[in-house]
Amino acid sequence: MADLQTNIRYIKGIGEARAKSLEKLDIHTLQDLISYFPRGYEDRTLTRPIRELVLGEHACVRAMIAHEPTSHRISGGRTIVKARAVDDSGSLELVFFNQEYRKNNLHRGETYIFYGKVEGDLLRRQMINPILEPEGRQQLTGRIMPLYPLTAGISQLILSRAVRQGLDACRDLLQDVLPDEVRQQHDLCFSNFAYENIHFPSSPEALEIARRRLVFEELFLLTCGLQQLRSRRRDVTGPLCQSADLEPFFRALPFSLTGAQQRALEDCRADMCSGRPMNRLCQGDVGSGKTMVAAGCIWFAAQSGWQSALMAPTEILAQQHYETLAPLFDRFSLRCALLTGSTRAKERREILTGLASGEIHLCIGTHALLTEDVQYHKLGLVITDEQHRFGVNQRASLSAKAENPHMLVLSATPIPRTLALIIYGDLDVSIIDELPPGRQKVDTFAVGERYRQRIQAFIRKQVREGHQVFIVCPLVGEEDTIPDERKAVTAYARQLQEQVFPDLRISLLHGKMKPREKESVMSAFAAGESDILVSTTVIEVGVDVPNANTMVVENAERFGLSQLHQLRGRVGRGSAKSYCILLSEGGSEETRQRLRVLTQTNDGFKISEEDLRLRGPGDFFGQRQHGLPATKIADLSCDMRLLDEAQTAARQLLQQDPQLSAPEHSALQARIRQLFDLHADTLN
Ligand code: ADP
Ligand code: MG
Repeated sequence: MADLQTNIRYIKGIGEARAKSLEKLDIHTLQDLISYFPRGYEDRTLTRPIRELVLGEHACVRAMIAHEPTSHRISGGRTIVKARAVDDSGSLELVFFNQEYRKNNLHRGETYIFYGKVEGDLLRRQMINPILEPEGRQQLTGRIMPLYPLTAGISQLILSRAVRQGLDACRDLLQDVLPDEVRQQHDLCFSNFAYENIHFPSSPEALEIARRRLVFEELFLLTCGLQQLRSRRRDVTGPLCQSADLEPFFRALPFSLTGAQQRALEDCRADMCSGRPMNRLCQGDVGSGKTMVAAGCIWFAAQSGWQSALMAPTEILAQQHYETLAPLFDRFSLRCALLTGSTRAKERREILTGLASGEIHLCIGTHALLTEDVQYHKLGLVITDEQHRFGVNQRASLSAKAENPHMLVLSATPIPRTLALIIYGDLDVSIIDELPPGRQKVDTFAVGERYRQRIQAFIRKQVREGHQVFIVCPLVGEEDTIPDERKAVTAYARQLQEQVFPDLRISLLHGKMKPREKESVMSAFAAGESDILVSTTVIEVGVDVPNANTMVVENAERFGLSQLHQLRGRVGRGSAKSYCILLSEGGSEETRQRLRVLTQTNDGFKISEEDLRLRGPGDFFGQRQHGLPATKIADLSCDMRLLDEAQTAARQLLQQDPQLSAPEHSALQARIRQLFDLHADTLN
């Protein structure tokens, strides 16, 4: 007897060859197949009289072929078959390109259902290459048709047939994972109905009912799983820290911490003294001073003899952390090391020895911290900065270097609360919602191409006054066509240098450079050795150049608002008045409106909510790197209400049955395990 994990090639009607093509869509099991949800639908339920057809719209027509079709050869060796179909109200011309067989399978006097886009003019209605089926034998017309995301070699027809076979095959297998009382309480349909109607809706209403149920189910499973993870963590012991007074640390700082920084640090301190491993996200806008919270934690852990590791996503950032933290900890005779891909072999060996012996208390670095030969004497705290750039796997493999160390994640991507619950659902959250005093607002302008000359004059003026300028260009094309990036930004910098600012010093930074090159460009810029830094978004994270007061972003429309906000955080770090100019080309009203949000507020949370509303959650991270099971059907920007409901329901259920061990919850527990075990490496 088959189950939902059966490979699709064993499903009646699918077979080896079809299964191979479906694999390209990541469909392997029966479960995958029925969970391959349509991205849209086409309503082909109603047929329309020919006379009422509207030019440019898609429609279904029930009509009889009036003449034998004719066939001609046209240029390029192509053939064209023409036919005419009529109903009570008028006549419709049918044109088929390269479908010579139509000549013989359309029969005069017979009635067909045609579906296609209506073309022609006021006098003549036409459909080009319509879908057609003989009346009474309809599969593709007369109903609401699913539209699936496709890949080469797989058509809508192939997919919808495969899904049909899949649904038929699992009619008796589909166990409802939602407990009955949850289903009833939230007014949800049975899962059989849901799967049938999400693919082949019997009506728009049925589709809505099905969708609601499946979205709820998905969010419910996710929430249950996350909550179980969280409580599982409560059962293990973490590195114990003695409660120590933070006063000496505070005294060593050149400024006093903001209230928000202190609260976050207090949260961490409580976690680290609890005997359980801390698993905390510290979220705060750019410039809100997360590094000092991290520093406080490191200091605190060291008071109890624990080593710490601080992982940054780029070498530049690791370097900068090192430069900030090493002198600070030096005052406490705590030793810091910087370990990156470009650390020389000899130095690296010394660092490894120091870490293994415990002489080094804090290791700051990039992915290099993850390589196998890095062993710690007594690793108690792992901090990752700007976590969304790390795969969650990497976070996990760093923490595997010790038994359940405390984990602190720093993120400058403000995330709307509901979304944070999903993405960081297994983390506790501290929010730094206050900037250090004296921080000034960056004046932001969204302008079009015709301001270019004025902007150039403005740049010149800033440089003359002794400031420095960032010019940021977006990646050209897809993220992975990196050669383009280098070419575009290099050419652009050269053009600026030769034609616009021959008298200014322009430097260049892009993602294709070797870490060492990047670093030297960045530190030269920080040292004031160049006036303008042209770069791609590699400067986005963390880099601190207080003398840079102006940022110009080219093609700003290609960035997400949150990303622009982060970029903007690179300026306004010094005492001079700071500016951010968002240049967008052509620019629809919609683009301008989007960018205007940035000119109106500096509040990262507001901006991220707007971003979520406008672009949906998928774009939040560029890629889904957080490692949670991706939601297949829930759209977190629209389904917030349902998310709330699902979270409440999950909480209630887990209160009654924390392990989901009751027999009526076994299907649910099995699905959760399956959903999360696929990502087992993310779950420790
Ligand atoms: P982010 O949260 O973006 O990582 P940083 O930790 O890099 O922010 O801090 C930004 C700047 O603010 C740094 O130069 C830091 O020294 C400074 N800073 C941090 N906390 C305070 C504070 N309480 N008062 C004044 N300056 C602070
Ligand atoms: Mg930072």
